[in-house]
Amino acid sequence: MLILDAARGVRRGAPFSFQSRGPTMNTACVEGAIPAAPKTHEVINQPPPLVGHNAWDDDVVLREAVARAGATWVAPRARAMGELVASERMRTLAWQANRYGPELRSHDRFGHRIDAVDYHPAYHELMRLALGAGVHSLAWTAKSAGFVGRAALFYLWNQGENGVACPVTMTCASVQVVRNEPALAREWEPKLLVEAYDPSPRPLHEKSAVTVGMAMTEKQGGSDLRTNTTRADPIGADAYVLTGHKWFCSAPMSDGFLTLARTDAGVTCFFVPRSLPDGTRNTFLIQRLKEKVGNKSNASSEIEFAGTWARRVGRDGRGIATLIEMAHLTRFDIVVAQAGMMRAALAEAIHHAAHRTAFGARLVDQPLMRNVLADMALEWEAATLVAFRLAGAFDRLHDDANERLLTRILTPVAKYWLCKRMTPMATEAMECLGGSGYVEEGPIARLYREAPLNGIWEGSGNVICLDVLRVLEKDPQALDALMAELAPASAAEPRLARFVAGIRDDLADRASLEVRARRVVEKLALATGAALLVRHGAPAAADAFCASRLAADWGHAFGTLPAGVDLRPILDRVAAA
Ligand SMILES: Cc1cc2nc3c(=O)[nH]c(=O)nc-3n(C[C@H](O)[C@H](O)[C@H](O)COP(=O)(O)OP(=O)(O)OC[C@H]3O[C@@H](n4cnc5c(N)ncnc54)[C@H](O)[C@@H]3O)c2cc1C
Repeated sequence: MLILDAARGVRRGAPFSFQSRGPTMNTACVEGAIPAAPKTHEVINQPPPLVGHNAWDDDVVLREAVARAGATWVAPRARAMGELVASERMRTLAWQANRYGPELRSHDRFGHRIDAVDYHPAYHELMRLALGAGVHSLAWTAKSAGFVGRAALFYLWNQGENGVACPVTMTCASVQVVRNEPALAREWEPKLLVEAYDPSPRPLHEKSAVTVGMAMTEKQGGSDLRTNTTRADPIGADAYVLTGHKWFCSAPMSDGFLTLARTDAGVTCFFVPRSLPDGTRNTFLIQRLKEKVGNKSNASSEIEFAGTWARRVGRDGRGIATLIEMAHLTRFDIVVAQAGMMRAALAEAIHHAAHRTAFGARLVDQPLMRNVLADMALEWEAATLVAFRLAGAFDRLHDDANERLLTRILTPVAKYWLCKRMTPMATEAMECLGGSGYVEEGPIARLYREAPLNGIWEGSGNVICLDVLRVLEKDPQALDALMAELAPASAAEPRLARFVAGIRDDLADRASLEVRARRVVEKLALATGAALLVRHGAPAAADAFCASRLAADWGHAFGTLPAGVDLRPILDRVAAA
């Protein structure tokens, strides 16, 4: 349980034991040479590590959202995941996999090209844990509410480690695209959906489980995929050879890749297996690995295709439309991941503030710190409600046209806004820990470097806002579906009603909509978060959210909620078990 109130008890976890794979000093050799260290002080006023709780049992907002959507079947799995992500074991694995990042081995010692990436054992263990728990597959395999059930696991997973979330997401979303080609689906889907991890570089028929990545971005354009220059030449039936490059290709040790290349009909989607059926490796030249700001455990590479064997997926010349189905799902996953990451940042901040005293009182009891923590708590709760409302809509989209329309508009709206809020929230959470927050040993530093990434890939901010405008233009009923979603809460909350009326005015002026797109999308996201808080949150949280985010009684940083707000129920909602 997260501790807000010292009277409820304090958990003291064992200290971390980070095992280095680098050179170690043989202390036996130097024993006796160094005098015993003089005891200068006792370590006091430092919090214990936040481990040993259960991230599922402690999260009432998550459990309520899952129950509302009829996915209580996931509780045993989610409890196991909640225990795992809050364990010292997970912390150590995450730290090791990010500290000792992947390394490219382009050639063997005899000079043959092998294009292999070596990972620390901790990475493989993380992959085994995630895929073994079905974090990549439950959306497709569960009998009911699979998107919600899987989202619960993915939200929890993102509180533990984020690099592995990339191959997990791509593998999950690839199922949708692979199903475009029945023969491809027959071969690959069973091994995509199995709850296991098999990193061996072998052909499909020799593998127990597979993962799939995607490679679209080229040097000259990632958002504008129409500029792709990679060439696809037919060699019979639906088989082609590819020639060209990709500027970003994450998880390059995946077993297959969805990619784009140009035929005479235009940009087309292809599937590139890394191994060919005869057991030889397909040509997949990994030129180098990117040195990234964060997301260190996950390899992101630059690759070249040279006579690379590929099979076509979907219609010739319709590659972008084919892959958009996948992007829709990866964007949804990002929404869920952001909510989980916000929870992780908030938990660290509250835990620290509950155990640290300054100027004679615990930080968590000091009014200004309570304002900061409560303001972040509002952000997290609204984000979580939006993510799980969206997950429920994905579960129902085949049976309910309104829910399908809702996924179409709410996915980019939520992707844009939650990504925009995660980075300032990670920064603020770091500041709550003071100097210790800025030190690499703690999880906040990793979260901080990870925070901007989800806003960049799978459609950067502007591109996502333009996608919302495209929906408004091509599928105007999607806006009606979102407005219908907001209506019951608007009827109960006048500030929300006024805010929604303002959005309608904003949308009426179409001429200058593109330049105002960020503001409009932001407002749609805020209205959705407010409506869900009004319906499902604590009244104090809904009131504070509407006062600050809708009625502008707020500053420009976290910790600027107005004086009259009742902070206790907002904070209790984070810590309630
Ligand atoms: C760590 C990492 C891993 C990645 N892994 C993969 C991967 O596995 N596979 C893959 O295919 N790609 C991957 N990418 C690439 C990523 O998807 C692209 O970087 C992203 O789509 C943006 O494309 P770009 O870099 O070419 O930027 P650009 O397309 O040049 O965009 C630059 C900026 O311009 C903005 N912009 C673009 N068009 C407009 C417009 N019309 N109006 C206003 N603003 C606009 C964008 O929002 C962005 O802010 C990865 C990226 C990163 C950072």
